[in-house]
Amino acid sequence: MSPAAPPPRRYGLGLLGFPVGHSASPAMHRAALTMAGLDGDYLLWPVPQADALDGFFARLRSGKIAGANVTIPWKVEAVHRCDELTGDARIIGAVNTLVADATGRIIGHNTDASGLAISVVESFQDHVFRGAQVTVIGAGGAARSAIVAAQRLGVNEVRVYNRTAEKARAVCESLGLGTPFADLEAALAGSNLVLQASALGFNLADDETDALAADLVTPLRGLAPGAALYDLVYKPSPTAWMLAAGRCGFEAVDGLGMLVHQAARAFAIWTGYEPDPQVMLAAARAQLASLAG
Ligand code: NAP
Repeated sequence: MSPAAPPPRRYGLGLLGFPVGHSASPAMHRAALTMAGLDGDYLLWPVPQADALDGFFARLRSGKIAGANVTIPWKVEAVHRCDELTGDARIIGAVNTLVADATGRIIGHNTDASGLAISVVESFQDHVFRGAQVTVIGAGGAARSAIVAAQRLGVNEVRVYNRTAEKARAVCESLGLGTPFADLEAALAGSNLVLQASALGFNLADDETDALAADLVTPLRGLAPGAALYDLVYKPSPTAWMLAAGRCGFEAVDGLGMLVHQAARAFAIWTGYEPDPQVMLAAARAQLASLAG
């Protein structure tokens, strides 16, 4: 008698972080599961305290969870619990995607930099960034991914500015860059691309967004002619940075494309299936609209 076929796999996926309630990830990954014709679900796992991470990693190791995304505040903490890190996770020093191999070893990936690089190219198709001068604003995990993405685009110079200079210095040192800029206007002067990776502008009300945009026009005016601005923030959209860039005549987009592409890369790591990012984008947009409404 031939052995019974193994039962079809059920993909238990989800997002580990805190807070996670307003995430668009379940909508995107459920759309990807449907596209791929795979059985499974993508859940939200709010984990406010680090000690709860151990149980979660044990479930991942045992195969009860097929894969996870990691978000704030656990992207760095999770690194120390992985058995192996792939390239970008090692360089960036943070993970956003976890998967266990057949022996229960946990592999940590970071798909943020590749997701951002793909989205920048897709968003600004008429621009050539090889040899460009790029300014990265921020010094958190998103900024580290933005620096790696910029390097991947083959740019000539990456300038970094952050509100807290000390953090910018630490980021530049660990990623092999020179001294960060102490002044936003100087950091932006003559740049061809801005990767806005600070939280400034996130979740503001309409009147606050307008007021911030008015303040940002002066520093953005000094960008090179034909420059582009990619704001990793995507809520609200248009963001204050996008409004200010538009007032100076520059193209600007929000970070939803990055969110979608990092998710598509993560889904491919878990399942081997390459989902259509456009379908995930539509799911993310619908989810964000329903949360805003
Ligand atoms: P993080 O590690 O907490 O870092 C926050 C950064 O924002 C720091 O550089 C901080 O500066 C700066 N910042 C916060 N409030 C500020 C303010 N009022 N004025 C100026 N700078 C301010 O967070 P993160 O993970 O890097 O995320 C940063 C932003 O990127 C978030 O808004 C997040 O939504 C967005 N993001 C988007 C994606 C995507 O897929 N599109 C992915 C990841 C993150 P200090 O060092 O001075 O505190």
